[in-house]
Amino acid sequence: MEYENDDKYKAIDKYVKEKLSENRYMHSISVMNRALEFAKQYGANEQDAIYAGLIHDVAKEVPKNQRVLLAEELGIELDEIEKEATALIHAKIGAYIARNTFGLNDEICDAIRTHTTGCANMTLLQKIIYLADFTSEDRSFDGAKEVYEMAKKNLDEALLYALKISIIDVMNEGGFVHPDGVAAYNYLLLNKRKKGE
Ligand code: FE
Ligand code: FE
Repeated sequence: MEYENDDKYKAIDKYVKEKLSENRYMHSISVMNRALEFAKQYGANEQDAIYAGLIHDVAKEVPKNQRVLLAEELGIELDEIEKEATALIHAKIGAYIARNTFGLNDEICDAIRTHTTGCANMTLLQKIIYLADFTSEDRSFDGAKEVYEMAKKNLDEALLYALKISIIDVMNEGGFVHPDGVAAYNYLLLNKRKKGE
């Protein structure tokens, strides 16, 4: 496709490939493809969706014992939950790399930053990246297919359901629920009630 000849795309692709295992690189490509699909359907900026999808997990393989330190070195502020549930940190470091290494725009960086938790009042691109990550072709967990079918009809409905699944899963595993995830869920539910759905 055309974007594969774009220099910035090539540079990001090379970087992501170097930083990630084969499997996670393939996941990144799957998320990118899903993000592009949603962007086309819902009229989001396709190039933003491609870049965000491709780079979203670039920091996912930073070793557990280095995550907090690296974030602090980069001047990234972490909250109490992120310092405990350090798997969350890859989203903020990824957004940092997108901005500082590749000069990607705020919309893209915000979408990377919130791809794991969601947040209140998400932009179209934030919703797309969250749902692309949840429903990409390589996903086999319960609910991925269902959420994908929902997302093709109504992004907000799919997002509300995906957030619910994520939050319940985290709780069942005895993990921390990040407040941004709760905020995302409540925001969508409030909106739905206001619309009388
Ligand atoms: Fe991720
Ligand atoms: Fe991912």
